[in-house]
Amino acid sequence: MGRAKRGSGRRARLKAALARFQARQSNRRKNWVEQTSTMLARQFDVIGVEDLNIAGMTRSAKGTTERPGRNVAAKAGLNRGILAGGWGMLVERLEHKAPSRVYRIDPAGTSQRCSACRIRDPEARESQARFRCRSCGFACNADVNAARDIAHETTLILMGTAAGPAVAARGRSGSPGRTNREPQPVPLS
Ligand SMILES: [Zn+2]
Repeated sequence: MGRAKRGSGRRARLKAALARFQARQSNRRKNWVEQTSTMLARQFDVIGVEDLNIAGMTRSAKGTTERPGRNVAAKAGLNRGILAGGWGMLVERLEHKAPSRVYRIDPAGTSQRCSACRIRDPEARESQARFRCRSCGFACNADVNAARDIAHETTLILMGTAAGPAVAARGRSGSPGRTNREPQPVPLS
């Protein structure tokens, strides 16, 4: 569009095509969010999600002209993924479809903590994709390790509230047809 002359027919056609493309992308994202949130809400009784501050992350990546954000390239990539994947939308829809069954977990440490021995090791993240604990040798995909850590944190919250009135308020028994899958504590090896 930058090369098309202002007010030209070509520019108008390109503008319309771009708008169609963006609308299609937006629809795809919404469909994905609806399908994924429905599937998760049906399949699991308890859902732990990383409580990412989307707005904050987007801001901190850009920074300002005088003070550019740190790790701009890495964060920009992450932002693209999160925004494109509709993370905030997904969590919002999940909380709507699975009321009181979604737990937001503080993301601090989830990328550095070993999901097997629970030791936090900033060096364990070998790359964006690889996690290898130097304490116990546990290694796996970094996202899988973070997910296991979030599952563990969710379990800790559940165990902490298990005796309280919060369980009754959640009404987990009255959901026929749903797989009653208890969150599995991550085994310590
Ligand atoms: Zn470990």
